[in-house]
Amino acid sequence: MDVSRETGPGSGRPAAVDVARVSDGAVFDVVVIGGGHAGCEAAAAAARFGAATLLVTHKAATIGEMSCNPAIGGLGKGHLVREIDALDGLMGRVADAAGIQFRLLNRRKGPAVRGPRAQTDRALYRRAMQRALGRTGNLTIAEAAVEDLGIVGDGRAAEARWVTLADERRVRAGAVVLTTGTFLRGLIHMGEERTPAGRVGEAPTLGLAATLGRLGFRLGRLKTGTPPRLDGRTIDYARLEAQPGDDPPVPFSFLTREITTPQVNCHVTATTAASHALIRANLDRSPLYSGRIESAGPRYCPSIEDKVVRFGDRSGHRIFLEPEGLDDDTVYPNGISTSLPEDVQSALLKTVPGLERARMTRPGYAIEYDFVDPRELFPTLETRRACRLFLAGQINGTTGYEEAAAQGLMAGLNAACRASAAAAVTVDRADGYIGVLIDDLVTRGVDEPYRMFTSRAEYRLTLRADNADRRLTPLGIERGFVGAERAAAFEAGSRALDAARGRLEALSLTPGEARRHGIAATRDGARRSALDLLGGNHLTVVDLARIWPELEGMPAPIAERLECEARYRGYLARQEADIRAFRREEALRVPPDLDFRRVDGLSNEQREKLAAARPATLGAAARVPGVTPAAVNLLLVHVRRRRGADGRGRDA
Ligand code: FAD
Repeated sequence: MDVSRETGPGSGRPAAVDVARVSDGAVFDVVVIGGGHAGCEAAAAAARFGAATLLVTHKAATIGEMSCNPAIGGLGKGHLVREIDALDGLMGRVADAAGIQFRLLNRRKGPAVRGPRAQTDRALYRRAMQRALGRTGNLTIAEAAVEDLGIVGDGRAAEARWVTLADERRVRAGAVVLTTGTFLRGLIHMGEERTPAGRVGEAPTLGLAATLGRLGFRLGRLKTGTPPRLDGRTIDYARLEAQPGDDPPVPFSFLTREITTPQVNCHVTATTAASHALIRANLDRSPLYSGRIESAGPRYCPSIEDKVVRFGDRSGHRIFLEPEGLDDDTVYPNGISTSLPEDVQSALLKTVPGLERARMTRPGYAIEYDFVDPRELFPTLETRRACRLFLAGQINGTTGYEEAAAQGLMAGLNAACRASAAAAVTVDRADGYIGVLIDDLVTRGVDEPYRMFTSRAEYRLTLRADNADRRLTPLGIERGFVGAERAAAFEAGSRALDAARGRLEALSLTPGEARRHGIAATRDGARRSALDLLGGNHLTVVDLARIWPELEGMPAPIAERLECEARYRGYLARQEADIRAFRREEALRVPPDLDFRRVDGLSNEQREKLAAARPATLGAAARVPGVTPAAVNLLLVHVRRRRGADGRGRDA
């Protein structure tokens, strides 16, 4: 055996997971570097898929740490969590165990854009994630800093074979997944102060940044930020608007029956004219405006100094006061991420209603870090430069726990496939937001931290949060990476849904009977099923149960799903036709070694963009920014001609 058990991580908080010591020369199918959101999902997915997996991270006690606000899900992100769950990932179940306030956002809008979100208890989340990993078979967890990657061979033959730890132990791997988040050459900015760090209080990763540079990866620099933390006992809640969660709370996971964690309120306040005047007066001390930070930050999650400069006419910006835990008085003021100096942050709080006497327990800061241009990756998240090396999470230019976890899951599955020579597992844009995320990254690249929105998906009505299991769990069952509990729950759920649909189809009314129940119906003599009435008359199952009492008690998730299917039947059918057309384009493969310089008629700019993105299919080529439909046609002609010349025929 290559590992021996050690008790305790030996640093700070105890970890809720056993830590092993790996010996020099130990061999694993998959080695995952990093215990953040990407790393946890990657390690669990690879292990579930049968790979002997090692998760190596700086500190076991920080596995599952939320670097920023303790909240999971939201618009677009909630869809990702449901999809991760549908593929038997951990995030949904862990968030359900740690959630202290659940809300379905956009409840009044259409079902396509509703986003489940939960405020979580930071410590409960970390512990629940560590316990979930501890229960995962095939998985060993070790504490160490990885300093280097062992890559053998050159050019297209380059392959990752081992990782080197800080004390020079080498661990051999069938595949490596790198998920180092904001740690690569991380640099924290707070006012005029600069501190090299991966997160506050944690050292940056320098060795691996040098390795990636040496291997020729295109690296860029991005930034993100976090607000100060407050002592909740010093906030004057009596003057603030309370924001309760949903009752009953709706869980993320298709396996969670009930949320048992106590639920709490959040509160809302806002910045004032005095806050804005203070920020403007101190802009020269903000590293964002003094020129010390040049890299791009998340446009959709701007710092408070950005908001004041960009939206100068606003009289106030909302601040959501979010508790960090049930046994923790820390409050996260969502909306005022900042890198202003500490004294300005303290003064700023005094200008905000309810926070005049609030004690700041930790100042906010901004962090700059290296990322790898995600166009360096195949859609499996394996790098083009080195076979058997996979990248996932913030290292690929994304921001957010959910985006990181979704990539981690796919990279972990594909690393396990690579190590065992099995076929890759991919999800396309019509299967899920996971497909949208990965396709956007590998075909378009990023020039600012990428976060998910529902507007990024073309097939929104099909890709709903409520049907993620229907879309994705069958893939997991077929390929064998979904556990028995999930498979059984999915099959039982599908049977219940089909039975409920069957009941609605079997019940019907004539137009006269419908009108007697107060339902508008044309006098055409045709009977209408209960399913037709749901769709055509915007009724709910609860409305229909007044006519047919046997429908009473239909579980709410099933009723909502059938209402949605019935109501949007026409649109869904049209979307299915669009999806078939999309899949035809996706089936036209672009040879991975195609030299775009030899495609006649393309402009130099198009050649450069295609060479950087190396789209895997004609469909992906069409999504590369700047590539016109005419250019795609030229590419199609070239690919067909080349196939003809190779005698390989058409790959469709
Ligand atoms: P991380 O969570 O960063 O985890 C990286 C892991 O890799 C850590 O466990 C680390 O110890 C380990 N590691 C790194 N290098 C090595 C090495 N050499 N050897 C061994 N282990 C290593 N997201 C939002 O959605 N909204 C926000 O407002 C937001 N604000 C943020 C503010 C700050 C200050 C920070 C730091 C992050 C913020 N994020 C925000 C981003 C969010 O935290 C990340 O997107 C998410 O945590 C990324 O997950 P990850 O798994 O890729 O990396």
